[in-house]
Amino acid sequence: MTANQTKILQVIKDSGPICAPEILKTLKQHNVYLNKTTVYRNITSLVDKNLLREVRVDPEKSYYESAELEHHHHFICQNCGKIRKVINAELEQVIEKIEESFMSSGITISKHDLEFFGTCNNCH
Ligand SMILES: [Zn+2]
Ligand SMILES: [Zn+2]
Repeated sequence: MTANQTKILQVIKDSGPICAPEILKTLKQHNVYLNKTTVYRNITSLVDKNLLREVRVDPEKSYYESAELEHHHHFICQNCGKIRKVINAELEQVIEKIEESFMSSGITISKHDLEFFGTCNNCH
């Protein structure tokens, strides 16, 4: 991993899920001045190395989080864009049952994504 990649990964670990423009801003606050192209290129390479995971919560922007995090879902505030982790064992049990029923009909499920959208406490 290059020095730039280490810095980018640290920002994402500290405040992910985070989008590329926010990563740039946070790096600047830490006096790390990288241009947009460099940041985007390094993000892509970190995703390829399975160190980062893309979170698809916004069709217009890609958010990233550490790939080391345990399996979870997200809640996204549609007003301020705040993202919260959702970890729920009961939910996973239900999903597992659904996946098993897929398998019994010959369909293989490799992963699932589930995100919740709404308005957060601060935005009510
Ligand atoms: Zn909000
Ligand atoms: Zn799940």
